[in-house]
Amino acid sequence: MVLAHAGAARVAYNWALARVKAVMDQRAAERTYGVPDDQLTPTVSWSLPALRKAWNAAKADVAPWWTECSKEAFNTGLDALARGLNNWADSRNGRRAGRRVGFPRFKSRRRTTPSVRFTTGAIRIAPDRRHVVLPRLGRLRLHESARKLARRVEAGAARIMSATVRRDGGRWHVAFTVQIDRTDRRPAQPGSVVGVDVGITHLAVLSTGEWVPNPRHLDRARRVLRRLGRGLSRTAGPDRRAGARPSRRWQRARARLGRAHARVASLRRDGLHKLTTRLAREHGTIVVEDLNVSGMLTNRRLARHIADAGFAELRRQLAYKAGWNGGRLIVADRWFPSSKTCSGCGAVRAKLALAERTYTCAICGLVLDRDLNAARNLAALAGEAVDARSGRESPNGRGADRKTPLAGQVAVKRQPGTAPAGQTGTVPPQGRTTNHTLTRAH
Ligand SMILES: [Zn+2]
Repeated sequence: MVLAHAGAARVAYNWALARVKAVMDQRAAERTYGVPDDQLTPTVSWSLPALRKAWNAAKADVAPWWTECSKEAFNTGLDALARGLNNWADSRNGRRAGRRVGFPRFKSRRRTTPSVRFTTGAIRIAPDRRHVVLPRLGRLRLHESARKLARRVEAGAARIMSATVRRDGGRWHVAFTVQIDRTDRRPAQPGSVVGVDVGITHLAVLSTGEWVPNPRHLDRARRVLRRLGRGLSRTAGPDRRAGARPSRRWQRARARLGRAHARVASLRRDGLHKLTTRLAREHGTIVVEDLNVSGMLTNRRLARHIADAGFAELRRQLAYKAGWNGGRLIVADRWFPSSKTCSGCGAVRAKLALAERTYTCAICGLVLDRDLNAARNLAALAGEAVDARSGRESPNGRGADRKTPLAGQVAVKRQPGTAPAGQTGTVPPQGRTTNHTLTRAH
């Protein structure tokens, strides 16, 4: 039943996309025939209300089964399309920073993550806190108890705005968007600074000298992942050129691999949540590196890939948790040589191979673990940020402080064609002006 709703979202999305595309293609063709602009086929609006109106007029023909699904299902698809088209248009007109956004593509049944979002109607947690009640879908059993959220809702401290049900790694998840009244908090040590270096063999290394280990079972889960990956490659997958359909064994192997991937991801996410909560509660200032995450995700090595994905997640979590706890997050400039700089004397080495796990300084004789050295350099940036408050620092798109290293200290090579990391173009996820914040609770 949930799957049917997700399918309905996809049908509405594809139908509306085909309609927008048909009109655009028609206009483009007419232009090539020299039809003047005022006589072209009129454009169709792709705002959400317009898409919804058009869908409601056509749904009886397109989807005669529409009464079986909640209108929220179709709305999910139309909303996604409206956003996709807007992002594409903004990106084309230069109103949207960041990577170029392509034109929305059709969603296939096999390749898309089934998902549906409810924004109206009876969305609540059942009194037993073990079920969630959604419009049309009724009571859904939860694997985990929702008591934390239920308690807040009952106390009037939280209001559920929407619920999204999606399937990920073979399991269904429900995520609530909640409006919460937060009390102002202060970090336990407002004056303290911590630098965080994210690693592979460890979750993170802190400038305080603490090695934060990876979550338990993560290494075993990774071994399983590699084994399943090998198993998948030994089965007969789909072949586009030969037109071969995947074998049953391949489909089962792929589902197993998907579940293992989801398990690794959630083990790691759980570890990151625990780490970022602790850091944000404890320290007044947290400094992290700014890595080119979208560039690094193309790296095909598994361990590296997982670490990079974890890094993006770490920064995202720290940005909002530091805000909640009244601390601040400083993101070092992308070209700050945190690994190559000596945390003892500030000398910068020209080269440092990835295999060199220990930093040895030829000038002051410092010998220190590579990651700890990097974490200490990051922490030292916070001091400079305070010294150079006038103008050097500017809040970035995520509401975090951004620090550029002092000019002249090091000569840093810039890759051709790459500007320093600028505004990310995203709206700060949390409104800082009031103590009402939108948050996701699982
Ligand atoms: Zn040194």
